[in-house]
Amino acid sequence: MDLSSIGVVDNHCHALDADQSSGGVAAWRTRFTESPHETMQTTQVADTAFYRRLMRSLASYLGLPPESEEQAILDAREQLSTEQLASGMYSDANIAGVVVDTGYPPPDRALARATFDSAVGTPRVDLLRLELLFQDLIATHGRYDDVVDDLDSRLSDVRAAGFAGFKSIAGYRTGLSIDRWQRTDVDDAFVSARADVAAKGSVRLGYKPLLDSLLHVCLARAAEQQLPVQFHIGYGDPDVDLRKASPLELRNIFEDPAYRAVPIVLLHGCWPYFREGAYLAAVYENAYLDLSYGIPFMSLAELTSMTRAAFGAAPFGKLMYSSDGTRVPELHWMGAHTGRRAIGRVLDELVSDGDLSVDQAFAAADQVLAGNAWRLYGLPGTRP
Ligand SMILES: [Zn+2]
Repeated sequence: MDLSSIGVVDNHCHALDADQSSGGVAAWRTRFTESPHETMQTTQVADTAFYRRLMRSLASYLGLPPESEEQAILDAREQLSTEQLASGMYSDANIAGVVVDTGYPPPDRALARATFDSAVGTPRVDLLRLELLFQDLIATHGRYDDVVDDLDSRLSDVRAAGFAGFKSIAGYRTGLSIDRWQRTDVDDAFVSARADVAAKGSVRLGYKPLLDSLLHVCLARAAEQQLPVQFHIGYGDPDVDLRKASPLELRNIFEDPAYRAVPIVLLHGCWPYFREGAYLAAVYENAYLDLSYGIPFMSLAELTSMTRAAFGAAPFGKLMYSSDGTRVPELHWMGAHTGRRAIGRVLDELVSDGDLSVDQAFAAADQVLAGNAWRLYGLPGTRP
């Protein structure tokens, strides 16, 4: 099934680096692994199916033979400015809207918003990265109650503040089992966090009672304003304890009647827990599954497995395309092409099995690639 006519809404992506120079082959490779280990970053990554597909695709995009040497491909890429790379790749991939987590890369390295917007020209909304805000507020206030008051008032009208929803990386910090804590536990955690601020000038939020309690403040605001909340799930660098990164850990949130109105978006297809993610999207009305195709760094076949589980179990209205692209536009670009191929393959299977008619399959693709995200995040204007 050819889905190239559907302009995708990338419901989970990040800014580009302002400086797109590759830095040479070894530095270029480091962008395509979640590993912190130098040998993996500079050498082993080149042997992955993902990286090979990326370089073959990039060579073709630049008009070179697919088997070209990495250095030759990077030399050709170096001829293009950041704006040319972004606008060319966004248009080649037919990207029709973006939902941007501005929490990474850091603003001093990211391409300015106005430059990006004028280069790619797509409708856009941003998400508020919660843990960065928590860290700032804890560094600012000496009393926990003042942190909560400040947080709560900043979130009194999130859309008016310029955000279409929240993004949490609790899965990278203290885990997804978000609890309600005794005040004494929260106070102890706050004292420890403030000691970090005193010693280092900032805090990296690894204190579970504190992080969980502040997340509850945000979830209450999200429920009141019906804002989607994205949770990083599963695959990531080894800061994530993957043993504890299953989306099933979010049971407390899904079972809490106070949060029934909060669309909870499970990121990265929950890979490797994609069956668990598909199950949640099939049983909780407010659970949505993000299918991301730029990261995780996988073969097309493995991304097709993730897609098959999602389309096999969950309602199509609960699935949303993304790239999770960050820093280089290749991830946003190849993610869109890969996503269409994986979704097209799975829909072909559903049609040949007799589950869906061709028209129903195309309508499902349209929902997952664009329609669901456009509606859920409230992208500006009407969908083309
Ligand atoms: Zn991301």
